[in-house]
Amino acid sequence: MNLKDLTPDELVAFVRELGEPAFRARQLLRWIYTARETDFERMTNLSLKLRSRLREKAEIPELQLKEELHSEQETTKYLFTLPDGEVIESVRMHYLGEDLGPGRVAVCISTQVGCAMACDFCASGKLGLRRNLATWEIVDQVLQIQKRLDEQGERVANVVFMGIGEPLHNYRNTLRAVRMINSPEGLGIGMRHLTVSTSGLVPRIRDLAAEKLPLRLAISLHATNDALREKIMPVNRKWKLTALLEACREYQEATGRRVTFEYVLLDGINDSVEEAHELVRLLSGMHSLVNLIPWNPIEGVRYKRSRPARVRAFQEVVEQSGIKCTVRQEKGGDIAAACGQLRLSDLKR
Ligand code: SF4
Repeated sequence: MNLKDLTPDELVAFVRELGEPAFRARQLLRWIYTARETDFERMTNLSLKLRSRLREKAEIPELQLKEELHSEQETTKYLFTLPDGEVIESVRMHYLGEDLGPGRVAVCISTQVGCAMACDFCASGKLGLRRNLATWEIVDQVLQIQKRLDEQGERVANVVFMGIGEPLHNYRNTLRAVRMINSPEGLGIGMRHLTVSTSGLVPRIRDLAAEKLPLRLAISLHATNDALREKIMPVNRKWKLTALLEACREYQEATGRRVTFEYVLLDGINDSVEEAHELVRLLSGMHSLVNLIPWNPIEGVRYKRSRPARVRAFQEVVEQSGIKCTVRQEKGGDIAAACGQLRLSDLKR
């Protein structure tokens, strides 16, 4: 049994099967998530008999760090190897739209190996989906980064599910990971500091709304009309903008949370002032935040990054309408910053 893949309740059931009382599960959780221990022998408040049974029946695996790249701009990228040899990437940042404060960092994590959504401007969409990540493989990205931060007295304060993969395409495990990262017996990070991003899987957004969790929802929007969105994001062929925005309103009503709209700016494609006005019209009446993302070039992809003047003009239109509009800061451009780019170059190597 992989103990990291169990929720606290499932761990209680497991220790009971071993004939042990429920508090043993709490002890194990403290060892795993607070002491970051994986060796049963060092879990000295467990009886020798229990430790030996756990050695026979259970394991506490870890993601293996394959590569770590530091940017000059306080961003670190981690490439992790999974037990089956696949690789995923995670990013640690000191900035997330605003400074997080001293000693606090945000991490961006992956939920799948590859991605089935095939967005035209994205490195992760290029090779398709290999598989979903297990719950523990999602949570362990945060745990492994936290372990490295322990020595510096820093802690992960925000988690964004915005790395490789479409989180809502791996709905069950993403949601289990959200609960484990949030649980006081897990990593104890407040639900309000967790952001799940989606390219627009409308039925799953509705499912998430029904959970009524105070989670932040981010939508990768990137276009203001169906024709363009279908071209750059095939997911829009199935779920059109009207349906997507309706689901966002539903989410907002159910959770009371502001919805963030991510908008990657592609020169001459989606970055005109007219499109900025159209965006404002689409979001009217909704409590939203627009986050403009200067595109990070990817080898073999024909798009160009928007020029700074066009970014500023776009931002001005959105802000003048009263919608808060930020431009994602340039962090990590020197270390293959685009989502999936590090994994892509690792696969090529
Ligand atoms: S942008 Fe997100 S949803 Fe689209 S292909 Fe890339 S990882 Fe998948």
